[in-house]
Amino acid sequence: MSSETEVVTYEVRGPVAVITMNRPDFRNAQNSKMTYALDAAFVRAVEDAAVKVIVLAGNGKHFSAGHDIGTPGRDHDAHYENKAALWWDHVDRTGGDQRFARETEVYLGMCRRWREIPKPTIAMVQGACIAGGLMLAWVCDLIVCSDDAFFSDPVVRMGIPGVEYFAHPWVMGPRAAKEFLFTGDRFGAAQAEKWGMVNRVVPRGELEAETIALAEKIATMPQFGLALTKKAVNQAEDLMGMRSGMDSVFGLHHFAHAHNAEVGADSLGGMNAKTMKTAAAEQNGSK
Ligand code: ZN
Repeated sequence: MSSETEVVTYEVRGPVAVITMNRPDFRNAQNSKMTYALDAAFVRAVEDAAVKVIVLAGNGKHFSAGHDIGTPGRDHDAHYENKAALWWDHVDRTGGDQRFARETEVYLGMCRRWREIPKPTIAMVQGACIAGGLMLAWVCDLIVCSDDAFFSDPVVRMGIPGVEYFAHPWVMGPRAAKEFLFTGDRFGAAQAEKWGMVNRVVPRGELEAETIALAEKIATMPQFGLALTKKAVNQAEDLMGMRSGMDSVFGLHHFAHAHNAEVGADSLGGMNAKTMKTAAAEQNGSK
């Protein structure tokens, strides 16, 4: 059984640190507790000189179903010490002030912080990789996925233009990004590979061995050289507009949250995990 006390596990295998999201009963839905446990694990791996490469995994059938919008462990109102952003705490704030403070820290800020980890990171993805789950995979340098993996960002159904870490046009190309977002559909591993969104697709039974083998191969390269190379590619990606693009879209994202809150029940357009699922089923049933 999964333990709510250990929402992330940490293991070192030779030169590779394996950091595993551990809420399998909730398809590794990411709450704040998990966010800060992930951050602590990444810091540990960065500070351990013997760790050369970091693998991010999800325990169970699925990598991650996204941000926690409905499990018993949902903790979006809880206090935490900001790590990614120099901003005030969201807890005693209201409206857009609260949402902006929270999402600047736990979503956009944390993802950017993790993208800049000075060691190569590999996402090892199986099953669902949805919405907030995409953000976790996308911040990694490489993505190895199993043939049963599927990807989707259905938050347009909430009236919101995609998840907070808006990397879509850069990780799959603008036209694919539009189809991905406009339909909210699930796309399989083969399609993701065609778009260039993942590095490798392997049979489910070989996912772990293939990912670790790739990590071990990279681990033989000089550590500082890898860090500089990672920075070089990230800088090039930012020069292709990713960083400033994401900043501008973060404004649209918050405009959408605020619009939802102004005209409807809440900032998510009255949607939750269950109604999102029903809406997707209806959309696909009425084709
Ligand atoms: Zn949001």
